[in-house]
Amino acid sequence: MNEINFSTLKLSPAMLANLETLEYKSMTPVQAQSLPEILQNRDVIVQAKTGSGKTAAFGIGLLHKLNVKSFKIQSMIICPTRELADQVAKELRRLARFAHNIKILMLYGGTPFKRQVNSLSHGAHIVVGTPGRLIQHISERTINLEAMNTLVLDEADRMLDMGFFDDIKKIITNTPAKRQTMLFSATYPDEIMSLSAEIQKDAVNIQTISQESANKIIERFYKTNFDEKLQATVNILSSFKPESTIIFCNTKVKAQELADDLQKQDIDALAIHGDLEQFVRTDVLVQFSNHSCPVLVATDVAARGLDVKNLSAVINYDIPNDSDTYTHRIGRTGRAGKEGLAFTLYVKDEIEDIYADEKRIFEDAKALHVTDLIKILPKNVTLVIEGGKREKLRAGDILGALTAQGGLEGKSIGKIDIYDRQSYVAIERKYIDKAYQLIQNGKLKGRKFSAWILK
Ligand code: ADP
Ligand code: MG
Repeated sequence: MNEINFSTLKLSPAMLANLETLEYKSMTPVQAQSLPEILQNRDVIVQAKTGSGKTAAFGIGLLHKLNVKSFKIQSMIICPTRELADQVAKELRRLARFAHNIKILMLYGGTPFKRQVNSLSHGAHIVVGTPGRLIQHISERTINLEAMNTLVLDEADRMLDMGFFDDIKKIITNTPAKRQTMLFSATYPDEIMSLSAEIQKDAVNIQTISQESANKIIERFYKTNFDEKLQATVNILSSFKPESTIIFCNTKVKAQELADDLQKQDIDALAIHGDLEQFVRTDVLVQFSNHSCPVLVATDVAARGLDVKNLSAVINYDIPNDSDTYTHRIGRTGRAGKEGLAFTLYVKDEIEDIYADEKRIFEDAKALHVTDLIKILPKNVTLVIEGGKREKLRAGDILGALTAQGGLEGKSIGKIDIYDRQSYVAIERKYIDKAYQLIQNGKLKGRKFSAWILK
């Protein structure tokens, strides 16, 4: 593959320097193809795989033309889920470090509307939101979009799947007609093309799927019956011992039930689905992504767009409803050149025809190695500190407190996630009590913070 450096684009030296500190050396294929068009302010419709770097493609584009001095909303990014909006905002904040004071607001449900109204009244440059909450702000006139010149629809196919077509059109009718519109989608159903025709002008069509090296994924299908699906799942986990696994179920109820059943078998599993309170969802996602939870049981909606690195396996506990969903689910493993494992349980023989492919392996679940006693425990445990951005806590403060004299070694501390009012720190399991004591008895930024262990 040809490596093209970001410096070939007409970006500011500050932007280029920041990309360098992020260790973005060369452009991914989707960036290399779309950025020249995006930087010319053209509308684009982009199809690329998950994990291909779409966020930076539109992020660099919209940040490049942002007028930091004008404290008005200039860009809006619409995402299907809160988790995805969170991830997009995080990546944008990293990309925005080249300038001071770029304000990015997240607008989604599950957090108080009034608090968002208050934040909006203080001004923002960029908003990242989900359709429902954006509509609410538009209809209550708590958002001013007069200066908006860039609109991004991320994971547009998913938003259509979730029934947001009308909501999106409603949002768009409330934005200035003179704007750049970028549409990103992993799949390209007809509906996307008609949406594009309605909301874009002379959109440049960019498809990079064929150039992205195929993930190495080993796809195994296990025939079982309804009563033995749980056991087959346990057997897969105990035979292959993946370090981190997402198990997909087709319903929220099943996802919760399966996580509970796995817990009973000493497999440390958590569920993520739309019926959980926002704070529980955050706790779960943080624990999964920082390796404090080895097994996540999810519905498609809840897992969409999750950028979890080093996912070793995906298990389809339920057969997905269509082949696009199958591709999406298993595409989460084997990312970034690592070999992934995809397991699918099935009951009906037809599945062997529907999914027939020479690279897929079909077996009876009885062929799986069975062990009676297994315990699947995470590498880390998460420590929660009752303080976050509001208290101006930074990762460095926390690291400092944990590694000060007589404290932990840096290598036993994992990912640190700082949210508004809380911070999450991944700690190697055997040091969790010590870490807890260090925070409880010590100080951060000169003051006491309480902490607790997530479990
Ligand atoms: P997508 O939205 O296409 O699924 P993301 O935008 O979430 O993918 O990017 C996937 C990962 O790749 C992120 O962790 C991001 O930080 C990283 N990334 C993006 N662009 C580059 C680049 N040019 N070089 C290295 N890493 C990159
Ligand atoms: Mg994305």
